[in-house]
Amino acid sequence: MKFGIRTLDEMDVKDKTVILRVDINQPVDRKTGKLKDVTRIKASLPTIKELSDKKAKLVILAHQGSDIEYKNFWSLKPHASVLRELLGREVLFLEDVCGPAALEAIKKLEAGDILLLDNVRFLAEEQTLFELSLKLTPSEQAKTLLVTKLAPLADFYVCDAFAASHRDQPSLCGFQELLPSAMGRLFEREYCVISELMESPKHPCLFVLGGAKINDAFLMMETVLKSGAADEVLAGGLAAEILAVAAGEDIGEAAKAFLVQAGHADLLPVAEKLLQDHSARLVRPVDYAYVKNGARVEAKIGQIPSGELAVDIGETSARHFRNRILAAETVFANGPMGVFEETASELGTKIVWEALGETKARTVIGGGDSIAAAAKFGQTEKIDYICTGGGALIRFLTGEELPVVRSLRRGSRL
Ligand code: ADP
Ligand code: MG
Repeated sequence: MKFGIRTLDEMDVKDKTVILRVDINQPVDRKTGKLKDVTRIKASLPTIKELSDKKAKLVILAHQGSDIEYKNFWSLKPHASVLRELLGREVLFLEDVCGPAALEAIKKLEAGDILLLDNVRFLAEEQTLFELSLKLTPSEQAKTLLVTKLAPLADFYVCDAFAASHRDQPSLCGFQELLPSAMGRLFEREYCVISELMESPKHPCLFVLGGAKINDAFLMMETVLKSGAADEVLAGGLAAEILAVAAGEDIGEAAKAFLVQAGHADLLPVAEKLLQDHSARLVRPVDYAYVKNGARVEAKIGQIPSGELAVDIGETSARHFRNRILAAETVFANGPMGVFEETASELGTKIVWEALGETKARTVIGGGDSIAAAAKFGQTEKIDYICTGGGALIRFLTGEELPVVRSLRRGSRL
């Protein structure tokens, strides 16, 4: 047991049916149907391999895509091919989640077999909109279709989906009500590394926060500044733009309009409060960049023409952030500094991410796009710890008990 959760060392799975929930949600190329990245699939391999080697009858559950954006909603068929290739062994796949075909296939599994069922989010009860509007308790989740159909056929439940551990959905939190449960190896490793770092981070400890999921960024800023975990927060991405507007800085009419249109106006009072309480430790850009005719243009605050939208922090700010990172002992980063996918707006993220690779500080990054940026700028190997989850990492760092952790603790007592 670690953190009150059973590990795979304490589960005898030989000839037993094990339901394994992983997070192999990956960007899909909608034209070719192929996966554009397989980082999370690779990260899930040790647990899959171990359970199959130990002769479990393995039933894998996973999701692909978010119902809030919906665009990335997709079958897990390509994931099955990638798994087959990477494991070098057969992986059965079914276009069914918990219907008669799935139940039949589970009953026929032999020791060591691996079966991947289709995207659990094809079921309404697994969707985030459902989660947020109905807020089922774990015992209510145990009465959902998925859990009532699959749990009676299984002996154990294992969760390796650390990246989804901030979600409160049946495939993640319902089975632990009924089945003896454990965390998988990836979950165990992510939990251990991050909690060790959080318990006694070496100071100065910096949080670099950017990206587009700014509710997460603000939640994080508030907690780590208040608790003292962060000596400083370096703000980039949309979070920096909201803070700038809240501070009354002129970053252009277009940015202001964009933030309001994107529904972020309600964060302005939160940003104002943060500035009031922690302005000295909240390090913000002094310049930004916009793109004109495909070329990058640097502009100080107050010099962004109306109609032009800031899409990156400026070079001066990025170099300043770089120096702070080089002088730090611990750095957590989530969310790129700008729209790093385009060459014209990649510089801010490039400079900052290269600093993450170069610094002697212990560095942790989380979040799909942050990881993609590390790969794009060749820093993946130089960053100390790459956490598969963004939202999960953030909530973990705020000290909240994650729903999946809560449920795993319960399932570890069965
Ligand atoms: P992560 O996946 O690392 O958690 P997010 O998903 O929150 O990060 O944000 C990543 C996205 O934010 C990227 O696609 C990037 O283009 C976008 N982004 C970053 N800065 C800006 C900005 N200033 N304006 C618009 N989009 C931005
Ligand atoms: Mg993202």
